Amino acid sequence: MVVPEQGQARKKRRSNGSADAHAAAEKRKQIDAERRQLPAWAARDRLLELLQQHRTLVLVGETGSGKTTQIPQFLLNARFGPTKSGSAATAATNGPAAAATEEGQAPQPASTSGRNHNGSGNVIAVTQPRRVAAMTVARRVAEEMGTPLGQQVGYAIRFEDITSPSTRIKYLTDGLLLREALLDPLLSRYRVVIIDEAHERTVHTDVLFGLLKGVQARRGDDFRLIVMSATLDAARFVDYFPGAVAALIRGRQFPVQVMYTARPEDNYLDAAINATLQVHADEGEGDILVFLTGQDEIDSAERLLKDRLAALPRFDGTAPGAGAGGGEGGTSGGAEEGAAAAVAAAGAAASRRELLVLPIYAALPPEQQMKVFEPAPPSFRKAILATNIAETSITIPGVRFVIDTGHVKSRDYNARLGLESLAVVPVSQAQARQRSGRAGREGPGKAYRLYTEADFGQLEATTPPEITRCNLSSVVLQLKAMGIDDVVNFDFMDPPPKTAVLRSLELLYALGALDPAGKLTPGIGARLARLPVDPMYGRVLLAAAEMGCGVEAVAVVAMVAAENVFHMPRQKEREWRAARLKFVSREGDHITLLHVFRGFREIPKENNKARTTWCSDNFINIRALRKAEDIYDQLVRCLGHPSPPGLGLPLSSCMGGLASATAAAGGLAGVGGGGGGTEDTTPLRRALTAGLFPHAARLQPDGSYRVIATGRQVFLHPSSVLLERKPDCLVFNELMHTTRTYAREALAIEARWLPELAPAFFAAKAGAAVGAAS
Ligand code: ADP
Ligand code: MG
Repeated sequence: MVVPEQGQARKKRRSNGSADAHAAAEKRKQIDAERRQLPAWAARDRLLELLQQHRTLVLVGETGSGKTTQIPQFLLNARFGPTKSGSAATAATNGPAAAATEEGQAPQPASTSGRNHNGSGNVIAVTQPRRVAAMTVARRVAEEMGTPLGQQVGYAIRFEDITSPSTRIKYLTDGLLLREALLDPLLSRYRVVIIDEAHERTVHTDVLFGLLKGVQARRGDDFRLIVMSATLDAARFVDYFPGAVAALIRGRQFPVQVMYTARPEDNYLDAAINATLQVHADEGEGDILVFLTGQDEIDSAERLLKDRLAALPRFDGTAPGAGAGGGEGGTSGGAEEGAAAAVAAAGAAASRRELLVLPIYAALPPEQQMKVFEPAPPSFRKAILATNIAETSITIPGVRFVIDTGHVKSRDYNARLGLESLAVVPVSQAQARQRSGRAGREGPGKAYRLYTEADFGQLEATTPPEITRCNLSSVVLQLKAMGIDDVVNFDFMDPPPKTAVLRSLELLYALGALDPAGKLTPGIGARLARLPVDPMYGRVLLAAAEMGCGVEAVAVVAMVAAENVFHMPRQKEREWRAARLKFVSREGDHITLLHVFRGFREIPKENNKARTTWCSDNFINIRALRKAEDIYDQLVRCLGHPSPPGLGLPLSSCMGGLASATAAAGGLAGVGGGGGGTEDTTPLRRALTAGLFPHAARLQPDGSYRVIATGRQVFLHPSSVLLERKPDCLVFNELMHTTRTYAREALAIEARWLPELAPAFFAAKAGAAVGAAS
């Protein structure tokens, strides 16, 4: 929703000294030269020609060939961009500032932005499965075009819209485009939709495929679809879309020597650190890219690496990493995929270089994300610690060495148990190949797989499409809201398991979103579909609005959505535990999060310094809190806004409101509540139960919990505030598998509320009727 003040930004640019202008011009010249070297440039004219003749183009090209950053610019500058004028410079002056403000305050991303006078849009949409990719790529393309981000080039992700009426290239997550289709089923503001990273086959991408087929049929020649993929299986896509053609961008790929460990590693994190140090010590020029699974892991790897580096002897000409590697990293050279073997060892020279450790993952602040793209200073080598974001979505220049832990964090859904979880799982062979390929972008490279060659042989060939292994309730709800009632027979490229569809229908029925015939209910169902949160949390918000605790429930949902609120360094466990005590509620993590949010809101927004201090004193991640505040404001608008897509639900507070910031934003009378005093959380806990009931669990004699709906045994996560005094009955946010299944973020509730708040679910045989109806 942040729209840069266009006028000011432009003026500032003009009035800056000529030295700055000169430097900027030089930088652009250099970028321009780099762009022209990209394989996509060689294919430009042919691609534009193909797109004149065909309504669907399936474009396959090696990662890094310029698909994501260049193709939209080609279209913009050819006739597939703005219908009136294709010039970048003229389009930038179109957006009146007043309109930008209006857009910025719209409760949901969809509005008339970018629509021209003919009623048909001229915007180019490019979807990305990942938020980070949408953000970094948009930033890069804005830089290439020499325009401020958010004007001609912008991005939109859930809860964040950096676009304006002058935006012509819009990067957005596939999930968000799906939401937009709810309000604008013909996607009429887009002239071209590019589904990028199609090989990833996220559930949103797969549903978009089906919808876009319909859009094409109805919009005809007015609309173009481009499906871009980094793997060679174009045939699937060509078969699926009528009249589609495939085109291949011939990339450059240098040979990559693939190495495996001789024995399986007990701990891939340690192994990755050893391997990084070893490569740094033994190998010549080139940056190192390490694939890990998530933020926690990357944070600890960064710390461990820095500690180990600090302990190493320096500049003595010996290869310190060899010792530090502890003899573990014995890699055997099994060459795969036509690799050329000879790579000169640069030994002592390399050991003189310093290692610059840079993380990249979704929750990292954008300034830090951008650091991975900057070349390492002369005497440095970069070691980039990445999630699988670096597998295909973003290309980091300079990488010659890849270290693949062989693991990835993946959503998994057990339809029989109706439970979704996030788990660290082995990668597929296709993913392993993609990862290794990152080393051969600029010259011959080396990939170290931290598993044995035999283990590689045991991996799945490819990752099954997400739609076959995820909770479908949100997607099914959206299809229903678009009038697609027969979800089971929807034109999926790969249909989801029938049990998963039935489970989601049951759940939506239990939430009150569907009637017994499987039709969207005009009250709850239609509202849930419009809320930009999972239907279970959406139901929490609707129940809360009714029960008079909307303000608190929105705060809780915002805090849950913001993720990683507490910063919990392992070395300072006692300190953060003590700090957290101030906020802890014996009723659970949700109430604890509410206390944190309230504390934060008590410090006025303008007093940034006080907020920063407060957060660091309390081991709280200020970015998460800012994000939560943003989400809070948006959800309040979304619920309260009188006309669609707003729901027109006034919110009130059951606990004395939040601090004054709330009163200003939401028009609510609230007095600074503070953490102390007696507070009755019952209405709020009941509202949370009204949505989270499928995740209700009862305490067992052995201290574990049993999920009521499924009978599954789970354990309370060690970070939960309920651990010290376990309640008889609770609801939790999500499950996580590591060595066993943990319930994360839990709330104490009364068991007797369950049949009262979710009668359809807890009465025997609930949902059978829905299942049968579809
Ligand atoms: P593809 O989509 O085909 O994988 P991209 O369009 O993402 O390729 O990237 C093309 C090239 O642009 C890459 O080789 C990379 O070096 C460069 N590039 C992309 N993003 C950035 C960035 N943020 N900073 C610097 N270079 C970038
Ligand atoms: Mg790309």
